[in-house]
Amino acid sequence: MIDKIKGIFVKKEEEKLDKITIFINLVESYLKREHPNIVFDLSVYKNIKEEPNNQNEQVKKTLIIREIEKQFSDFIWEKTTQKSVKKELLWDGYGLNSQPNKRIPIDFSRRKELVFFREEGSCNRCGHIIQKIERAYIVLVKSFEQNGGYNLENLILLCQNCYSVTTYNSSNFSEVYLKLREDLYDMI
Ligand SMILES: [Zn+2]
Repeated sequence: MIDKIKGIFVKKEEEKLDKITIFINLVESYLKREHPNIVFDLSVYKNIKEEPNNQNEQVKKTLIIREIEKQFSDFIWEKTTQKSVKKELLWDGYGLNSQPNKRIPIDFSRRKELVFFREEGSCNRCGHIIQKIERAYIVLVKSFEQNGGYNLENLILLCQNCYSVTTYNSSNFSEVYLKLREDLYDMI
């Protein structure tokens, strides 16, 4: 009888540990698919033998998410000049409106569209495929202070997550809205 009861507990323990492993596997395949340029290292969370209980499982998952957010935000990426597009695709006033300016040029949405198609919707930093242009962000390789303008070579495409972590003026990324965080919490 006691053995039988023990058996139940052992089984339960394995089940709990498996849940973390399952969660990590799920999360890793999500990260590979959604942010292929970034290599995440979750090895410290694998194969840790602990007294499992429900609360522990939730806490552990939360810690894993936090670690992913940190690694996502810490990922080092350098802005580099991008490809030009064929001259035929440019329009009157393109050169003039490309000049460094604090004001966003009147033809900005046209520029954004060309950058989006040039990159096939792929985020320059993490490699995420942005499905809709409305969810894409544009940043300058060189700022206007560095004499960077709105010419297409100076425009970089970013996804919401990368835009938020690279433009937010604080190291405290937990204050920033991240689609990544929302998706990961949905997996808990
Ligand atoms: Zn990105």
